[in-house]
Amino acid sequence: MENTVFLNLEKLNFDSKLDFSPIEELTTFTKHDESSSIEILERVKDQTIIITKELALGRDLISQFPPSVKLICEAGTGYNNIDIVAAREKNITVCNIPSYSTQAVAHLVITYILNFSSSLIQQQMMLKEKNFDNFTKHLELPHFEVKNKTLGVIGGSGAIGREVIKIALALGMNILTYSRTQKPYGDQNVHFVSLEDLLKQSDFVSLHCPLTPDTLHLIDKDRLALMKPSAFIINTSRGPIIKETDLIEALQNKRIAGAALDVQDPEPPRQNNPLFDMHNVILTPHIGWKRLESRQRLIKLVAVNIQSFIKGKPINVVN
Ligand code: NAD
Repeated sequence: MENTVFLNLEKLNFDSKLDFSPIEELTTFTKHDESSSIEILERVKDQTIIITKELALGRDLISQFPPSVKLICEAGTGYNNIDIVAAREKNITVCNIPSYSTQAVAHLVITYILNFSSSLIQQQMMLKEKNFDNFTKHLELPHFEVKNKTLGVIGGSGAIGREVIKIALALGMNILTYSRTQKPYGDQNVHFVSLEDLLKQSDFVSLHCPLTPDTLHLIDKDRLALMKPSAFIINTSRGPIIKETDLIEALQNKRIAGAALDVQDPEPPRQNNPLFDMHNVILTPHIGWKRLESRQRLIKLVAVNIQSFIKGKPINVVN
């Protein structure tokens, strides 16, 4: 049996509810809750397969991996934490799990849209502060129907983007999408447009591209300036795709109406980050993938990746 080590299990199994038997049946499996850089180098000795969850494996570390290491399996979709070029140079295959929380992340995006359209969180906070103005006075918070509003999906040909679009269409929204690849939808309410047009015309902008050198700070001051003052931005992808200082400025200056951020830069945000105090900002602690069913599905799919690799037919290879 091949040796497999999971270097930072705590990130995935924080509630100790996951069943690892699908991996244990295939390999000799060692688990560590967390690993420092020094511990990583000690723990990969004699291992063939390394499993990580958003653990930084840069060139400095990978270049010191022993020849026994043949596969790094990221237990997740985004693999920007792994230097895939350095891995390729050492003949280490890197694979990810393309789709395990697709629906859950899409549902989170729709939750944000419906919350913004009804100012649900703000209404709740006012009532908790015993402020009953909204019962009797003119409602000044955003409160509108989502039907016929425009959702702009950046990376809309990907798994999560497509799932978001499917649900948004069911809500009666019009869809603009900008993606590196253009897969037809066959729906007259979905239009491929330039990034600039998407930003100018959307009532909600949702980010679903991966974090790469091309998408780092894709949304900056200039692009935020294109958005409508009444528009909201949603990021469930990766924090650094938005230049956070520019977003904070745009929110403070009311350039845009609000933001929902499941991912931030850095994570967790610093305690004095102004985003925490903004009423038009929803922050969630990177929960898109974290539902129990999604995490258990992830373990099963990691096992499938490992099994395919052992059989000499690796799948979901990203390098
Ligand atoms: P995917 O690979 O199926 O889709 C990504 C899409 O982005 C593709 O259509 C691709 O063509 C497009 N794209 C790539 N580069 C682009 C660019 N420069 N400009 C525009 N479009 C570009 O991935 P997915 O499963 O839909 O996941 C998307 C991202 O969501 C992941 O990379 C990950 O970072 C993030 N994610 C977050 C959570 C969470 O818990 N919040 C969970 C899963 C995934």
